[in-house]
Amino acid sequence: MNKTIYLKNRPSGTPSLNDFEFKEENKPSPDEGEVLLKSKYISVDPYLRGRMRSGESYIEPFKVNEPIESGIIAEVISSKNPNFKEGDFVNGMLQWKEFQVSQVAGLNKVDPNTAPLSAYLGILGLTGITAYVGLEKIGKLKEGETLLVSGAAGAVGSIVGQIGKIKGCRVVGIAGTDEKIQKLKNDFGFDEAINYKTTGNIGESIKKACPQGVDVYFDNVGGEILDAALENINKFGRVINCGAISLYNATETPMGPRLEGTLIKKSVLMQGFTVRDYIKEFGPAINQLAAWLQEDKITYSETIVEGFEQTPQAFLDLFKGKNSGKMIVKI
Ligand code: NAP
Repeated sequence: MNKTIYLKNRPSGTPSLNDFEFKEENKPSPDEGEVLLKSKYISVDPYLRGRMRSGESYIEPFKVNEPIESGIIAEVISSKNPNFKEGDFVNGMLQWKEFQVSQVAGLNKVDPNTAPLSAYLGILGLTGITAYVGLEKIGKLKEGETLLVSGAAGAVGSIVGQIGKIKGCRVVGIAGTDEKIQKLKNDFGFDEAINYKTTGNIGESIKKACPQGVDVYFDNVGGEILDAALENINKFGRVINCGAISLYNATETPMGPRLEGTLIKKSVLMQGFTVRDYIKEFGPAINQLAAWLQEDKITYSETIVEGFEQTPQAFLDLFKGKNSGKMIVKI
């Protein structure tokens, strides 16, 4: 039999296990031109929360009573397509199923001899590319500048900070546990790190950690941490709106301080993006990240949860900060 995970309800507020449904189906067989895939590693990502809502976005919402999908590394276990053979590994946007048939559109082969398979969901996948293009295309870091990053111990944030160090910047991270703070400084080379859950005043802590002010703020969390970063932004600062996880489960849109004054007086650029806006940059980004990995200029961490059944819980745990680095489910 083939285990699968469906969206059961559209959650209101923080999602729970009740919003997912496990179903067992017969194992499918491929038709001409298709491949049968066995899932090996499933990426769980904060943006999937947005796809659980109805309504227009940059990506289609999941349908209730249909399987959830995300980035998955899978093995080809039988093939009726001449371009794929048994034993190939592929990366694609696939359904949360142990086995599935694919018509191969959107599948990319990945080589387990070049990097561990899970790395293609993180540093050599969408989160690594997101860090790279956000900094390159919007941040435009200059040597000697101060880079502040929130969600700093996560998949995107930990890569952002290390790129900042490669570019010769002072790098300050914000994260939610003391263990993560130590990791940022000891393993990822951040100059300073702030635990937003225990610091009394996040704005003051940023000021202290960034005595020259903030030139570039890479925002993964939005909300009050973004407000505090803007209090400390320098003239001609750049704010990269990558994510706003602190708001993803909000049932009403919270009101923050008005930003126009700061943006005008300090000539600040504030720009959102989705990594899909930069598909042409994927190749160069992966090549650069792979080169830095090979030269030991960059490293990465992963939280690997074992077992297909753990996939919904691993997703929910992103909102509790249980991961350090990329959250991945190993099947
Ligand atoms: P991640 O950082 O690996 O995991 C999420 C982290 O967010 C958690 O570990 C937790 O760390 C933190 N967090 C959870 N709730 C929070 C809250 N209320 N306030 C502050 N921090 C909170 O996830 P990721 O995949 O790297 O994604 C990071 C951000 O980038 C997300 O907002 C995501 O949606 C966004 N993103 C955007 C793009 C794009 O194309 N624009 C692409 C990929 C990801 P703590 O322990 O530090 O709280």
